[in-house]
Amino acid sequence: MKQERVSVLGSTGSIGENTLDVIGRNPDRFRVVALTANQNIEKLAKQCARFDADLAVTANPSLEQDLARALRKEGSRAQVMSGDAGLKEAAGMSETDTVMAAIVGAAGLGSTFEAARHGKKILLANKESLVIAGEVFVAEAKKNNARILPVDSEHNAIFQALPDDFERGLDAAGVERIILTASGGPFRELPADQFAKVTPEQACNHPNWSMGKKISVDSATLMNKGLEVIEARWLFNAHPDQIEVVVHPQSIIHSMVAYLDGSVIAQLGTPDMRTPIAHTLAWPQRIEAGVERLNIARMNDLSFEKPDLERFPCLGLAFQAMRSGASAPVTLNAANEVAVAAFLERRIGFNHIPQLVAGVMERIAVSAVKDLDDILEQDRQARRTANEWVANFNG
Ligand code: NAD
Ligand code: MG
Repeated sequence: MKQERVSVLGSTGSIGENTLDVIGRNPDRFRVVALTANQNIEKLAKQCARFDADLAVTANPSLEQDLARALRKEGSRAQVMSGDAGLKEAAGMSETDTVMAAIVGAAGLGSTFEAARHGKKILLANKESLVIAGEVFVAEAKKNNARILPVDSEHNAIFQALPDDFERGLDAAGVERIILTASGGPFRELPADQFAKVTPEQACNHPNWSMGKKISVDSATLMNKGLEVIEARWLFNAHPDQIEVVVHPQSIIHSMVAYLDGSVIAQLGTPDMRTPIAHTLAWPQRIEAGVERLNIARMNDLSFEKPDLERFPCLGLAFQAMRSGASAPVTLNAANEVAVAAFLERRIGFNHIPQLVAGVMERIAVSAVKDLDDILEQDRQARRTANEWVANFNG
Protein backbone atom coordinates (compact mmCIF):
# COMPACT_ATOMS: atom_id res chain seq x y z
CA MET A 1 0.00 0.00 0.00
CA LYS A 2 1.22 3.51 -0.79
CA GLN A 3 1.86 5.38 2.44
CA GLU A 4 -0.23 8.47 3.03
CA ARG A 5 2.02 11.47 3.71
CA VAL A 6 0.88 13.56 6.68
CA SER A 7 1.73 17.01 8.08
CA VAL A 8 0.71 17.64 11.68
CA LEU A 9 0.26 21.34 12.48
CA GLY A 10 0.41 21.79 16.26
CA SER A 11 2.02 18.39 16.83
CA THR A 12 3.08 19.14 20.42
CA GLY A 13 -0.47 19.83 21.61
CA SER A 14 -3.12 17.46 22.88
CA ILE A 15 -4.60 16.69 19.44
CA GLY A 16 -1.13 16.64 17.85
CA GLU A 17 0.19 14.05 20.31
CA ASN A 18 -2.91 11.90 19.94
CA THR A 19 -2.51 12.06 16.16
CA LEU A 20 1.08 10.86 16.37
CA ASP A 21 -0.04 8.10 18.74
CA VAL A 22 -2.53 6.80 16.15
CA ILE A 23 0.01 7.15 13.32
CA GLY A 24 2.54 5.24 15.45
CA ARG A 25 0.07 2.35 15.71
CA ASN A 26 -0.31 2.25 11.92
CA PRO A 27 3.22 2.79 10.59
CA ASP A 28 2.58 0.95 7.30
CA ARG A 29 -0.21 3.33 6.31
CA PHE A 30 1.19 6.74 7.21
CA ARG A 31 4.44 8.65 6.89
CA VAL A 32 5.01 11.89 8.79
CA VAL A 33 6.33 14.61 6.49
CA ALA A 34 6.16 17.80 8.55
CA LEU A 35 5.59 18.70 12.21
CA THR A 36 5.00 22.17 13.66
CA ALA A 37 4.88 23.73 17.12
CA ASN A 38 4.94 27.11 18.78
CA GLN A 39 7.42 27.12 21.73
CA ASN A 40 8.06 23.55 22.81
CA ILE A 41 11.00 22.82 20.52
CA GLU A 42 12.42 19.99 22.68
CA LYS A 43 9.24 18.00 22.29
CA LEU A 44 9.03 18.91 18.61
CA ALA A 45 12.61 17.70 18.01
CA LYS A 46 11.91 14.40 19.78
CA GLN A 47 8.82 13.88 17.64
CA CYS A 48 10.76 14.66 14.45
CA ALA A 49 13.40 12.08 15.38
CA ARG A 50 10.86 9.43 16.38
CA PHE A 51 8.81 9.83 13.16
CA ASP A 52 11.70 10.69 10.84
CA ALA A 53 10.03 13.90 9.64
CA ASP A 54 11.43 15.87 6.68
CA LEU A 55 10.43 19.32 7.96
CA ALA A 56 10.27 20.86 11.44
CA VAL A 57 8.66 24.26 11.93
CA THR A 58 8.50 26.57 14.93
CA ALA A 59 5.94 29.36 14.68
CA ASN A 60 8.38 31.60 16.54
CA PRO A 61 11.24 32.80 14.27
CA SER A 62 13.48 33.62 17.24
CA LEU A 63 13.54 29.90 18.14
CA GLU A 64 14.77 28.66 14.75
CA GLN A 65 18.41 28.21 15.82
CA ASP A 66 17.41 26.48 19.05
CA LEU A 67 15.23 24.12 17.06
CA ALA A 68 18.09 23.29 14.67
CA ARG A 69 20.30 22.47 17.68
CA ALA A 70 17.61 20.37 19.35
CA LEU A 71 17.07 18.40 16.14
CA ARG A 72 20.78 17.65 15.85
CA LYS A 73 20.86 16.51 19.46
CA GLU A 74 17.95 14.12 18.86
CA GLY A 75 19.50 12.81 15.64
CA SER A 76 16.73 14.13 13.37
CA ARG A 77 17.53 14.99 9.77
CA ALA A 78 14.54 17.38 9.45
CA GLN A 79 15.00 20.67 7.65
CA VAL A 80 14.08 23.73 9.76
CA MET A 81 11.71 26.58 8.98
CA SER A 82 9.88 29.13 11.12
CA GLY A 83 7.12 31.70 11.26
CA ASP A 84 4.16 32.02 8.97
CA ALA A 85 6.14 30.94 5.92
CA GLY A 86 7.19 27.73 7.66
CA LEU A 87 3.66 26.91 8.81
CA LYS A 88 2.33 27.52 5.31
CA GLU A 89 5.04 25.34 3.79
CA ALA A 90 4.14 22.45 6.13
CA ALA A 91 0.47 22.82 5.13
CA GLY A 92 0.82 23.35 1.40
CA MET A 93 3.98 21.49 0.34
CA SER A 94 3.63 19.13 -2.62
CA GLU A 95 5.24 16.31 -0.56
CA THR A 96 2.20 16.07 1.73
CA ASP A 97 -1.26 14.56 1.11
CA THR A 98 -2.99 15.11 4.42
CA VAL A 99 -2.88 17.97 6.91
CA MET A 100 -3.93 17.62 10.52
CA ALA A 101 -4.91 21.19 11.45
CA ALA A 102 -4.42 21.17 15.23
CA ILE A 103 -3.08 24.63 16.07
CA VAL A 104 -5.19 26.34 18.74
CA GLY A 105 -7.09 29.54 18.01
CA ALA A 106 -7.22 31.99 15.13
CA ALA A 107 -3.43 31.50 14.86
CA GLY A 108 -4.28 28.32 12.91
CA LEU A 109 -6.25 30.08 10.19
CA GLY A 110 -3.40 30.99 7.80
CA SER A 111 -1.93 27.50 7.58
CA THR A 112 -5.28 25.72 7.50
CA PHE A 113 -6.36 28.01 4.69
CA GLU A 114 -3.13 27.21 2.84
CA ALA A 115 -3.98 23.50 3.01
CA ALA A 116 -7.36 24.31 1.43
CA ARG A 117 -5.65 26.37 -1.28
CA HIS A 118 -3.47 23.38 -2.17
CA GLY A 119 -6.31 20.86 -2.26
CA LYS A 120 -5.09 18.79 0.68
CA LYS A 121 -7.13 16.35 2.71
CA ILE A 122 -7.72 18.47 5.82
CA LEU A 123 -8.33 16.80 9.17
CA LEU A 124 -9.85 19.77 10.95
CA ALA A 125 -9.41 20.11 14.72
CA ASN A 126 -8.81 23.88 14.65
CA LYS A 127 -12.47 24.87 15.00
CA GLU A 128 -11.65 28.58 15.37
CA SER A 129 -10.73 28.81 11.68
CA LEU A 130 -14.23 27.65 10.69
CA VAL A 131 -15.85 29.94 13.26
CA ILE A 132 -14.17 33.05 11.93
CA ALA A 133 -13.81 32.21 8.24
CA GLY A 134 -16.43 29.47 7.68
CA GLU A 135 -17.95 30.60 4.41
CA VAL A 136 -14.69 31.76 2.82
CA PHE A 137 -12.80 28.68 3.98
CA VAL A 138 -15.39 26.14 2.81
CA ALA A 139 -15.57 27.90 -0.58
CA GLU A 140 -11.78 27.80 -0.93
CA ALA A 141 -11.71 24.10 -0.08
CA LYS A 142 -14.44 23.35 -2.60
CA LYS A 143 -12.72 25.34 -5.32
CA ASN A 144 -9.52 23.32 -4.91
CA ASN A 145 -11.08 19.93 -4.20
CA ALA A 146 -9.75 19.93 -0.65
CA ARG A 147 -11.72 17.50 1.47
CA ILE A 148 -12.49 18.70 5.03
CA LEU A 149 -12.92 15.87 7.54
CA PRO A 150 -14.07 16.95 11.03
CA VAL A 151 -11.92 15.86 13.98
CA ASP A 152 -13.93 17.64 16.68
CA SER A 153 -15.68 14.70 18.35
CA GLU A 154 -19.21 16.12 17.92
CA HIS A 155 -18.74 16.96 14.27
CA ASN A 156 -17.02 13.69 13.60
CA ALA A 157 -20.02 11.94 15.18
CA ILE A 158 -22.42 13.94 13.00
CA PHE A 159 -20.33 13.21 9.92
CA GLN A 160 -20.57 9.50 10.73
CA ALA A 161 -24.35 9.74 11.27
CA LEU A 162 -25.07 11.67 8.04
CA PRO A 163 -25.61 10.01 4.65
CA ASP A 164 -22.64 10.07 2.23
CA ASP A 165 -24.33 12.61 -0.03
CA PHE A 166 -25.24 15.16 2.69
CA GLU A 167 -23.40 17.84 0.75
CA ARG A 168 -26.29 18.18 -1.69
CA GLY A 169 -28.20 19.71 1.24
CA LEU A 170 -29.51 18.56 4.60
CA ASP A 171 -33.15 19.00 3.56
CA ALA A 172 -32.64 16.86 0.46
CA ALA A 173 -31.01 14.22 2.65
CA GLY A 174 -34.07 14.16 4.93
CA VAL A 175 -32.22 15.66 7.89
CA GLU A 176 -34.37 17.68 10.27
CA ARG A 177 -31.93 18.61 13.02
CA ILE A 178 -28.36 18.26 14.17
CA ILE A 179 -28.06 17.68 17.91
CA LEU A 180 -24.70 18.52 19.46
CA THR A 181 -24.05 16.96 22.85
CA ALA A 182 -22.16 18.90 25.53
CA SER A 183 -20.66 17.45 28.71
CA GLY A 184 -21.62 20.63 30.57
CA GLY A 185 -18.02 21.02 31.76
CA PRO A 186 -16.67 20.99 35.32
CA PHE A 187 -19.15 23.63 36.62
CA ARG A 188 -22.37 22.12 35.29
CA GLU A 189 -23.83 22.09 38.81
CA LEU A 190 -21.96 25.03 40.36
CA PRO A 191 -24.21 27.96 41.41
CA ALA A 192 -23.49 31.16 39.47
CA ASP A 193 -22.50 33.07 42.63
CA GLN A 194 -19.46 30.76 42.96
CA PHE A 195 -18.13 31.51 39.46
CA ALA A 196 -16.04 34.49 40.63
CA LYS A 197 -13.92 32.14 42.77
CA VAL A 198 -13.15 29.61 40.03
CA THR A 199 -9.39 29.21 39.43
CA PRO A 200 -7.67 28.37 36.11
CA GLU A 201 -6.66 24.99 37.60
CA GLN A 202 -10.30 24.13 38.37
CA ALA A 203 -11.44 25.32 34.94
CA CYS A 204 -8.82 23.20 33.17
CA ASN A 205 -9.77 20.06 35.07
CA HIS A 206 -12.41 18.65 32.73
CA PRO A 207 -14.44 15.70 34.07
CA ASN A 208 -14.30 13.54 30.89
CA TRP A 209 -11.71 14.85 28.43
CA SER A 210 -8.03 15.70 28.69
CA MET A 211 -7.39 18.70 26.42
CA GLY A 212 -5.32 21.86 25.91
CA LYS A 213 -5.92 24.77 28.32
CA LYS A 214 -7.80 27.06 25.96
CA ILE A 215 -10.43 24.50 24.94
CA SER A 216 -10.70 23.33 28.55
CA VAL A 217 -11.67 26.85 29.66
CA ASP A 218 -14.03 27.11 26.66
CA SER A 219 -15.68 23.85 27.79
CA ALA A 220 -16.13 25.27 31.28
CA THR A 221 -17.87 28.44 30.00
CA LEU A 222 -19.78 26.49 27.28
CA MET A 223 -18.18 28.82 24.72
CA ASN A 224 -16.69 25.64 23.25
CA LYS A 225 -20.20 24.41 22.45
CA GLY A 226 -21.03 27.82 21.00
CA LEU A 227 -18.00 27.70 18.71
CA GLU A 228 -19.03 24.16 17.74
CA VAL A 229 -22.53 25.33 16.80
CA ILE A 230 -20.98 27.79 14.33
CA GLU A 231 -18.52 25.13 13.18
CA ALA A 232 -21.44 22.77 12.46
CA ARG A 233 -23.25 25.45 10.51
CA TRP A 234 -20.38 25.65 8.01
CA LEU A 235 -19.26 22.03 7.95
CA PHE A 236 -22.72 20.71 7.19
CA ASN A 237 -24.24 23.76 5.52
CA ALA A 238 -26.94 23.76 8.19
CA HIS A 239 -29.53 26.46 8.78
CA PRO A 240 -29.05 28.05 12.24
CA ASP A 241 -32.49 26.77 13.28
CA GLN A 242 -31.45 23.20 12.50
CA ILE A 243 -28.76 23.11 15.21
CA GLU A 244 -29.57 22.15 18.79
CA VAL A 245 -27.48 21.61 21.91
CA VAL A 246 -28.22 19.10 24.65
CA VAL A 247 -26.16 18.51 27.79
CA HIS A 248 -25.12 14.87 28.23
CA PRO A 249 -22.74 14.66 31.20
CA GLN A 250 -21.37 11.16 30.48
CA SER A 251 -19.86 12.10 27.07
CA ILE A 252 -20.69 8.68 25.59
CA ILE A 253 -23.00 9.89 22.81
CA HIS A 254 -20.83 12.32 20.87
CA SER A 255 -23.71 13.87 18.87
CA MET A 256 -26.80 12.93 16.86
CA VAL A 257 -28.64 13.54 13.62
CA ALA A 258 -32.47 13.60 13.61
CA TYR A 259 -34.27 12.70 10.38
CA LEU A 260 -37.65 13.54 8.89
CA ASP A 261 -39.01 10.05 9.54
CA GLY A 262 -38.38 10.28 13.29
CA SER A 263 -35.07 8.36 13.27
CA VAL A 264 -32.23 9.68 15.39
CA ILE A 265 -28.76 8.34 14.60
CA ALA A 266 -26.06 8.72 17.24
CA GLN A 267 -22.37 7.87 17.41
CA LEU A 268 -21.08 6.44 20.68
CA GLY A 269 -17.67 5.74 22.15
CA THR A 270 -15.45 6.26 25.18
CA PRO A 271 -14.34 9.91 25.36
CA ASP A 272 -10.94 9.60 23.63
CA MET A 273 -9.96 11.90 20.75
CA ARG A 274 -8.01 9.06 19.11
CA THR A 275 -11.34 7.69 17.81
CA PRO A 276 -12.27 10.72 15.67
CA ILE A 277 -8.61 11.25 14.75
CA ALA A 278 -8.28 7.66 13.52
CA HIS A 279 -11.62 7.94 11.72
CA THR A 280 -10.47 10.97 9.72
CA LEU A 281 -6.98 9.55 9.09
CA ALA A 282 -8.31 6.30 7.62
CA TRP A 283 -11.64 7.49 6.18
CA PRO A 284 -13.49 5.81 4.56
CA GLN A 285 -11.75 2.82 6.12
CA ARG A 286 -11.22 2.03 9.81
CA ILE A 287 -8.01 1.51 11.76
CA GLU A 288 -6.94 0.57 15.29
CA ALA A 289 -6.76 3.66 17.52
CA GLY A 290 -5.71 2.19 20.89
CA VAL A 291 -9.00 3.25 22.45
CA GLU A 292 -10.70 1.53 25.38
CA ARG A 293 -13.82 -0.24 24.14
CA LEU A 294 -17.27 0.82 25.26
CA ASN A 295 -18.85 -1.61 27.69
CA ILE A 296 -22.48 -1.42 26.59
CA ALA A 297 -23.81 -3.58 29.42
CA ARG A 298 -22.36 -1.13 31.98
CA MET A 299 -23.76 1.92 30.24
CA ASN A 300 -26.69 2.23 32.58
CA ASP A 301 -27.09 5.95 33.07
CA LEU A 302 -27.10 8.08 29.96
CA SER A 303 -28.76 11.34 30.94
CA PHE A 304 -29.67 14.53 29.09
CA GLU A 305 -30.70 18.04 30.06
CA LYS A 306 -31.16 21.47 28.51
CA PRO A 307 -28.17 23.83 28.66
CA ASP A 308 -28.54 26.63 31.22
CA LEU A 309 -28.06 29.83 29.22
CA GLU A 310 -28.38 32.03 32.31
CA ARG A 311 -25.39 30.53 34.07
CA PHE A 312 -23.52 30.00 30.79
CA PRO A 313 -24.19 33.12 28.66
CA CYS A 314 -21.34 32.32 26.24
CA LEU A 315 -23.48 29.72 24.49
CA GLY A 316 -26.23 32.28 23.87
CA LEU A 317 -23.66 34.84 22.65
CA ALA A 318 -22.39 32.32 20.10
CA PHE A 319 -25.93 31.60 18.83
CA GLN A 320 -26.41 35.35 18.53
CA ALA A 321 -23.15 35.73 16.57
CA MET A 322 -24.10 32.87 14.25
CA ARG A 323 -27.50 34.46 13.50
CA SER A 324 -25.93 37.90 12.91
CA GLY A 325 -23.34 36.33 10.61
CA ALA A 326 -20.77 38.45 8.70
CA SER A 327 -18.11 39.75 11.12
CA ALA A 328 -19.99 38.81 14.33
CA PRO A 329 -18.37 35.35 14.82
CA VAL A 330 -14.92 36.92 14.22
CA THR A 331 -15.58 39.42 17.02
CA LEU A 332 -16.95 36.70 19.31
CA ASN A 333 -13.94 34.46 18.77
CA ALA A 334 -11.29 37.18 19.13
CA ALA A 335 -12.89 38.57 22.30
CA ASN A 336 -13.08 35.05 23.72
CA GLU A 337 -9.42 34.29 22.97
CA VAL A 338 -8.35 37.48 24.74
CA ALA A 339 -10.70 36.75 27.66
CA VAL A 340 -9.48 33.16 28.11
CA ALA A 341 -5.82 34.25 28.01
CA ALA A 342 -6.53 37.00 30.58
CA PHE A 343 -8.34 34.51 32.82
CA LEU A 344 -5.47 32.01 32.59
CA GLU A 345 -3.10 34.85 33.58
CA ARG A 346 -5.42 35.63 36.53
CA ARG A 347 -6.06 39.17 35.28
CA ILE A 348 -9.84 38.68 35.14
CA GLY A 349 -12.21 36.24 36.84
CA PHE A 350 -14.02 33.29 35.28
CA ASN A 351 -17.30 35.25 35.58
CA HIS A 352 -15.81 38.10 33.53
CA ILE A 353 -15.26 36.00 30.41
CA PRO A 354 -18.87 36.31 29.14
CA GLN A 355 -19.00 39.97 30.26
CA LEU A 356 -15.92 40.78 28.19
CA VAL A 357 -17.22 38.93 25.12
CA ALA A 358 -20.65 40.57 25.36
CA GLY A 359 -19.06 44.01 25.92
CA VAL A 360 -16.84 43.72 22.85
CA MET A 361 -19.72 42.43 20.71
CA GLU A 362 -21.79 45.46 21.74
CA ARG A 363 -19.01 47.88 20.87
CA ILE A 364 -18.13 46.56 17.42
CA ALA A 365 -20.72 46.92 14.69
CA VAL A 366 -21.37 43.88 12.47
CA SER A 367 -19.94 44.39 9.00
CA ALA A 368 -19.48 42.32 5.85
CA VAL A 369 -16.38 40.14 5.47
CA LYS A 370 -15.63 38.99 1.94
CA ASP A 371 -12.13 37.58 2.14
CA LEU A 372 -9.32 36.53 4.44
CA ASP A 373 -7.92 40.09 4.69
CA ASP A 374 -11.28 41.43 5.93
CA ILE A 375 -11.45 38.65 8.48
CA LEU A 376 -7.93 39.28 9.77
CA GLU A 377 -8.65 43.04 10.03
CA GLN A 378 -11.85 42.37 12.01
CA ASP A 379 -9.93 39.96 14.21
CA ARG A 380 -7.29 42.62 14.98
CA GLN A 381 -9.91 45.26 15.75
CA ALA A 382 -11.81 42.96 18.11
CA ARG A 383 -8.57 41.99 19.90
CA ARG A 384 -7.69 45.68 20.36
CA THR A 385 -11.09 46.40 21.89
CA ALA A 386 -10.91 43.28 24.08
CA ASN A 387 -7.41 44.17 25.30
CA GLU A 388 -8.64 47.67 26.20
CA TRP A 389 -11.43 46.05 28.20
CA VAL A 390 -8.86 43.99 30.11
CA ALA A 391 -6.53 47.00 30.59
CA ASN A 392 -9.38 49.13 32.00
CA PHE A 393 -10.64 46.31 34.17
CA ASN A 394 -10.35 46.88 37.89
CA GLY A 395 -11.91 44.05 39.82
P1 NAD B 1 -3.02 22.56 22.71
O1 NAD B 1 -2.90 23.86 23.40
O2 NAD B 1 -2.81 21.31 23.49
O3 NAD B 1 -2.01 22.53 21.46
C1 NAD B 1 -1.94 23.58 20.56
C2 NAD B 1 -0.86 23.36 19.53
O4 NAD B 1 -0.78 24.55 18.70
C3 NAD B 1 0.55 23.16 20.12
O5 NAD B 1 1.28 22.29 19.29
C4 NAD B 1 1.16 24.57 20.05
O6 NAD B 1 2.56 24.53 19.94
C5 NAD B 1 0.54 25.12 18.78
N1 NAD B 1 0.40 26.57 18.82
C6 NAD B 1 -0.07 27.33 19.85
N2 NAD B 1 -0.07 28.64 19.52
C7 NAD B 1 0.42 28.72 18.26
C8 NAD B 1 0.67 29.80 17.37
N3 NAD B 1 0.44 31.08 17.73
N4 NAD B 1 1.15 29.51 16.14
C9 NAD B 1 1.41 28.24 15.78
N5 NAD B 1 1.20 27.17 16.58
C10 NAD B 1 0.71 27.41 17.80
O7 NAD B 1 -4.45 22.56 22.02
P2 NAD B 1 -5.39 21.30 21.68
O8 NAD B 1 -6.23 21.00 22.84
O9 NAD B 1 -4.60 20.22 21.04
O10 NAD B 1 -6.37 21.95 20.58
C11 NAD B 1 -5.97 22.21 19.25
C12 NAD B 1 -7.19 22.56 18.43
O11 NAD B 1 -8.04 21.41 18.37
C13 NAD B 1 -8.04 23.69 19.02
O12 NAD B 1 -8.57 24.46 17.99
C14 NAD B 1 -9.15 22.95 19.75
O13 NAD B 1 -10.34 23.70 19.83
C15 NAD B 1 -9.33 21.74 18.85
N6 NAD B 1 -9.89 20.57 19.55
C16 NAD B 1 -9.21 20.01 20.57
C17 NAD B 1 -9.74 18.91 21.24
C18 NAD B 1 -8.99 18.22 22.36
O14 NAD B 1 -9.44 17.20 22.85
N7 NAD B 1 -7.84 18.71 22.77
C19 NAD B 1 -10.99 18.40 20.85
C20 NAD B 1 -11.66 19.02 19.80
C21 NAD B 1 -11.11 20.09 19.14
MG1 MG C 1 -15.82 19.04 20.63
